[in-house]
Amino acid sequence: MRVAVIGAGIAGLACANRLARSGYKTVLFDKGRGPGGRMSTRRVDLPDGRLHFDHGAQYLTARDPDFTAMIEGLERDGHAARWDAAGADAWVGTPGMNAIIKALAQPRNVHWGARVEQVEQSGTGWLISGEGFDAQSCDAAIVAVPAEQAASLLAPLDEQIAAQARATLSEPCWTVMAAFAAPLPISDDVLRHRGDIAWAARNAAKPGRYGPETWVVQANVPWSQAQLERSGEEVTRLLLAALAAEMGAPLPPLLYAAAHRWRYARTTSREAAPYWNPRLRLGVCGDWLGGARIEAAWLSGHRLAGTILTQIS
Ligand SMILES: Cc1cc2nc3c(=O)[nH]c(=O)nc-3n(C[C@H](O)[C@H](O)[C@H](O)COP(=O)(O)OP(=O)(O)OC[C@H]3O[C@@H](n4cnc5c(N)ncnc54)[C@H](O)[C@@H]3O)c2cc1C
Repeated sequence: MRVAVIGAGIAGLACANRLARSGYKTVLFDKGRGPGGRMSTRRVDLPDGRLHFDHGAQYLTARDPDFTAMIEGLERDGHAARWDAAGADAWVGTPGMNAIIKALAQPRNVHWGARVEQVEQSGTGWLISGEGFDAQSCDAAIVAVPAEQAASLLAPLDEQIAAQARATLSEPCWTVMAAFAAPLPISDDVLRHRGDIAWAARNAAKPGRYGPETWVVQANVPWSQAQLERSGEEVTRLLLAALAAEMGAPLPPLLYAAAHRWRYARTTSREAAPYWNPRLRLGVCGDWLGGARIEAAWLSGHRLAGTILTQIS
């Protein structure tokens, strides 16, 4: 049984790793140049050194026993650590959030830079094709990409789940990454819900990080929606001004600043479950079929694999 997984984010990897532990052959395709998805870490090279920013998910919480065991395993191997500043059950990847995806992907056959454009039935299985890789056939296909991207892949295959994908919305998030020549005048490493800012954190204070004072500032949903089509430069200026207002003092000189627009940051879906069509051998998972958190996305993929294991061999 060879299973193709489209999307090597935390959901796709959870599914592939559980199937692989039971002896299935897996192959994954991800359009990203490297591991991360929405748990990406941005690397910036400056003349004086390298900066890192977790510009997507900031931390994860672990409550489910299986997910907690998985994260504790990553901690033992040096890929994750607790981060008390964000809460008693908060964890981060070390030295970046993407370390978790890197570690989960390491034992798998993942094609990075591989954008899947078509999933079509071929004989009793599937043919996966697109840009950046040679077309490959498999016995079962798993779609583990955000709802907006899943909708177009699934439309020709299975109208029920394609319609669910079309009906699922994600919320945007404007994110600013900034490095400063001196520490900001605040002892807290985390700020939550301050005016237009949903979250701001001293990135360099997370476990396993080093280097100059770096901050990640994420706008709240209404602000991100209202400013969605603004330029990155304008958003950087506005969110840094909002941060300075929170500090009650001018910010230290900037070493670097840039903005990233996440059009589809977090799903609004709360209740949905992973999907398996046994007739087609087509599965679908991801945070939009679980909940708007890393743990929920992982559980979505893990549970989908559990369903597949009980149904095909
Ligand atoms: C700004 C931001 C802040 C967040 N903060 C938190 C937080 O603090 N805590 C928390 O728990 N969660 C947070 N989240 C949510 C969390 O990151 C997501 O819920 C989770 O990472 C989703 O995992 P996933 O595997 O479902 O999707 P993704 O991580 O999006 O993975 C899907 C993968 O599919 C790939 N892909 C898409 N289309 C194709 C295609 N056609 N072909 C090949 N590959 C494709 C993508 O490159 C991607 O790697 C945040 C998200 C964002 C963006």
